[in-house]
Amino acid sequence: MRYSVIVPVYNEEEVIQTTVSRLKQVMNQLNDSYELIFVNDGSRDQTLSILKEYCQGDSTVKIIDFARNFGHQIAITAGMDAAQGDAVIVMDADLQDPPELIFSMIEKWKEGYEVVYAKRTKRKGETFFKKYTASLFYRTLRALTDIDIPMDTGDFRLIDRKVCDQMAQLHEKNRFVRGLVSWVGFRQTAVEYERDERLVGESKYPLKKMLKLSLDGITSFSYKPLKLASYAGVLLSLGGFLYMLYVIYLKLFTNSTILGWSSVIVIQLLFSGIVLLIMGIMGEYIGRIYDETKARPLYIVRKTYKREEMTQKAKF
Ligand code: UDP
Ligand code: MG
Repeated sequence: MRYSVIVPVYNEEEVIQTTVSRLKQVMNQLNDSYELIFVNDGSRDQTLSILKEYCQGDSTVKIIDFARNFGHQIAITAGMDAAQGDAVIVMDADLQDPPELIFSMIEKWKEGYEVVYAKRTKRKGETFFKKYTASLFYRTLRALTDIDIPMDTGDFRLIDRKVCDQMAQLHEKNRFVRGLVSWVGFRQTAVEYERDERLVGESKYPLKKMLKLSLDGITSFSYKPLKLASYAGVLLSLGGFLYMLYVIYLKLFTNSTILGWSSVIVIQLLFSGIVLLIMGIMGEYIGRIYDETKARPLYIVRKTYKREEMTQKAKF
């Protein structure tokens, strides 16, 4: 097998047909063997049955059907585990990642690059909020981590077999795949593109999932937030100490006493806030440590589909 394309799908019934046909158009022009692996991440609509129809008539289409919604990053991981190609491409189902870009990715791959990621120069049709928070996130991540995680790239990328095999060694539960790909290293390069609008339907990444993804990204690749406690501690005690000197000075050398009920309350609230925030940050890490110790499998597959199996079954 030469190429594997992994497409995670979650409630994409409106767009999936267009995606399959555009993707097949691209892949057929390559004149090489390929497989399309659709990971159905617990869709509750017709996505699976549409895909099953393709699967019956087309041996390049394979489906991994999850037992429930495990999330985008896990779906990509399952695809990587199953992929057999020499080059593995990960792509969104909503055609925000134009399949035609695969040509230039493969060109770079043939030049010898082992990871070719797609860098967004523009993001069309996305809300100001999404663009702003995404940009803020990538910049924060960059400031916090030592690994070179490229800015403004999603999971749309091509990885070489070697990289894919290495990815299978990384078992962590709360995955930030694009960070892991950077972490394994190898020769990496970018191709640029303008990110299109989602063809139809709406984003399957509500704010909650976005927050989870960004926290996973930060906590998996940096423990600087944990150091916040020590920094804040030093700063606040220093402030407290200086203030104490000032209070003693007033008491000893002047007649004024400080009236300060409101300031006490304000400082009390502020400091409890900071303490709780830091405890929350620790909680994020501890929760993830707990997830790791449970050692549950990353995902549960209800069934996989490919044509050979179906024809075999039909004989019985
Ligand atoms: N997706 C998934 N599981 C989820 C959420 C999303 O497999 O829980 C898939 C979705 O079908 C799409 C891709 O991940 O193929 C990216 O999702 P989406 O386009 O909604 O994200 P956005 O582009 O808005 O960030
Ligand atoms: Mg999208």
